[in-house]
Amino acid sequence: QQPFLSVRDLKVHFSTEDGIVKAVDGLSFDLLKGKTLGIVGESGSGKSVTNLAILGLHDRDRTAIEGEILLDDKELLTASEKQLEKLRGNKMSMIFQDALASLSPYHTIGKQIAETYRKHTGASKSASRARAIEMLKRVGIPQPETRVDDYPHQFSGGMRQRAMIAMALVCDPELLIADEPTTALDVTVQAQIMDLLKDLQKEFGTAIIFITHDLGVIADIADDVLVMYGGRCVERGTKREVLKNPQHPYTLGLLSSMPSLDHPVDVPLNPIPGSPPSLLNPPSGCRFHPRCTFADKVEGGLCSKEQPLLEITDGRGSACHLTADQRGEYFSDLAGSA
Ligand code: SF4
Ligand code: MG
Repeated sequence: QQPFLSVRDLKVHFSTEDGIVKAVDGLSFDLLKGKTLGIVGESGSGKSVTNLAILGLHDRDRTAIEGEILLDDKELLTASEKQLEKLRGNKMSMIFQDALASLSPYHTIGKQIAETYRKHTGASKSASRARAIEMLKRVGIPQPETRVDDYPHQFSGGMRQRAMIAMALVCDPELLIADEPTTALDVTVQAQIMDLLKDLQKEFGTAIIFITHDLGVIADIADDVLVMYGGRCVERGTKREVLKNPQHPYTLGLLSSMPSLDHPVDVPLNPIPGSPPSLLNPPSGCRFHPRCTFADKVEGGLCSKEQPLLEITDGRGSACHLTADQRGEYFSDLAGSA
């Protein structure tokens, strides 16, 4: 199958007063139609920046972008703002953590969904309103015929999130980018929204990029996983491969810091010591080396000298100097003691 979205050696660098921030520094990945790619990493790892670049929503004046982003063989990085605007909403769409930021407080929910539909399809006002009601119903808003005339502030947080999903999907896009859409919600509502997204994906066949810092969410929704650290991909594989058999020390660290259902809540988690790297002045060699407990196992101090390459075979790979034997030895030890 041909990938529907192809990102090749993407670099997104911002100029700031203090210098160049290398927010994304050589990222490549593919996404197949109807599949979900989970992108996981700490804040500042480049997840959101990557996706703003795909959508063409980055600040063009202060951003230098290199590489290739092909959506159905169309190059997005060289597309005009007009072309991108046409694609946004229609072919690709997004939902964010903060529904209030994507919904205008000045217009009714229904009007906003209907206008999005009208703009991209040219449908009549009454057909667009009917479509808005249909979508609100589809995302589980009770009494959609009356709620369609509510303003965003009249909706609860969970309902606003549903309304944002309705707006994102109203034109039946092929790609949905979801950036931490459930982070601000309580656990019950979060689970409902995740179920809704999974149902809608089945129904509409939408490909999803799901951005999160939470491996639990990845376990719930992703087909494939891309782990980002310091603006680069450090590990890639199917969800099963990455969660059950991590190859990169950073992924291992994320996994051991993850609260799991069979852990009593009062057991302290195991956050990875240290903080994410500065992207203004990234660490030499492997960007994870200042925090990596295995850096001293690699001979010749290679970890701080040489950037480990990401070699992907059959969709699987990680960027680390450890040998397969070393991983086998050290990682299973850790799993055994957990
Ligand atoms: Fe750790 Fe070295 Fe592997 Fe980087 S390359 S993750 S520092 S062992
Ligand atoms: Mg983010």
